[in-house]
Amino acid sequence: MTRIECMPLVLVCLCIVTCWVAAEDKRPHIAIRGIYGGVPVELLEHGTLQEFGVNAIFMGSGGITDERIALLKTQGAKVFAEFNTMHVADYLKEYPDAAPIGVDGKVSPPPHGWQGICPTHPGYRRFRMDAFREVLSKFEIDGIWLDYHHSHASWERAEPDMPDTCFCERCVAQFRQQTKTELPNETTPQLARRLLGQHNDVWVQWRCDVFTDWVREFREIIDESRPEALLGTFHCPWTDTEFDGALRNKLAIDLKAQAEYLDVFSIMPYHARFGHAADPSWISRQTAWLGKHLSIKGEPTERHRIWPIVQLSDWGETVSIEQVRSVIDHGTRRPATGVMVFNWGSLKGQMDKVSEMGDYYRAIRP
Ligand SMILES: [Zn+2]
Repeated sequence: MTRIECMPLVLVCLCIVTCWVAAEDKRPHIAIRGIYGGVPVELLEHGTLQEFGVNAIFMGSGGITDERIALLKTQGAKVFAEFNTMHVADYLKEYPDAAPIGVDGKVSPPPHGWQGICPTHPGYRRFRMDAFREVLSKFEIDGIWLDYHHSHASWERAEPDMPDTCFCERCVAQFRQQTKTELPNETTPQLARRLLGQHNDVWVQWRCDVFTDWVREFREIIDESRPEALLGTFHCPWTDTEFDGALRNKLAIDLKAQAEYLDVFSIMPYHARFGHAADPSWISRQTAWLGKHLSIKGEPTERHRIWPIVQLSDWGETVSIEQVRSVIDHGTRRPATGVMVFNWGSLKGQMDKVSEMGDYYRAIRP
């Protein structure tokens, strides 16, 4: 065979390889390519959102205005609000009785400065539900994501600090009544020992149920005020067995129970922050576990969706520009059907990474 004769075969082979790679790169199962952290003003100085392959912006509900939504909509982006559920620390200035109580019967100091709130404080719950309703009724958002929906604990790091709470009189009384558990009249430290000892299973489930019931009410408010909006949650990326089952027995997150009310699970596998700086494949492993746990495959017909929020910004550890593609690659593998990068506040000063993100987002766009 002459050189000329073999050329077409080589070209065909090259084409097959190229098409195959391109088809892999397209990832048509990924519907959302997002940025978390507000309107990316600095990005818009370099091009449109479409030019960066971005089609969704997530921003704090306090920063939403009609003008910002209009700007993002003209760029063809969906707008999702982030909503702080259990971490409005300022509330305690006026209502100190909403502070979580520890096993010693005293106010539990905020671990690493992270302040949670007692989940049964009726005034605080009303305060958050009213704020949630207001965001949904005021703004034409495409969805709203619960954030910090867990107990008083610091876990967004490699070494978490998760004190046992809340043993306030109100929580203990509700537990006793709702679970029909008989408890003697003892001091708080004595009762806390019992709850974490002989009654531990019932106590853990009751705490999970309290947090799930908040999600039920959030869903009810969406159904009343903006039924087309999605309800999502930003949640701890651990499996049910990591840190001795802390997801449920410390953080009070019962993902399966919450799934009844949620549409989207935005797992937070911040690989660098969580001690996996050199291993972005941790992201797809945690996401795969979540899919298995909740029976989500990443099919377009499924009600439940997994849209991980992945770390590109330097937080705890740096994320190098060379790692950007790998991070988004692992964040966009099934069962994920969407992804967003964390976070604009930091990335706006690192346009080289943003440009790398844009190249990847454009490449996987259907
Ligand atoms: Zn309490």
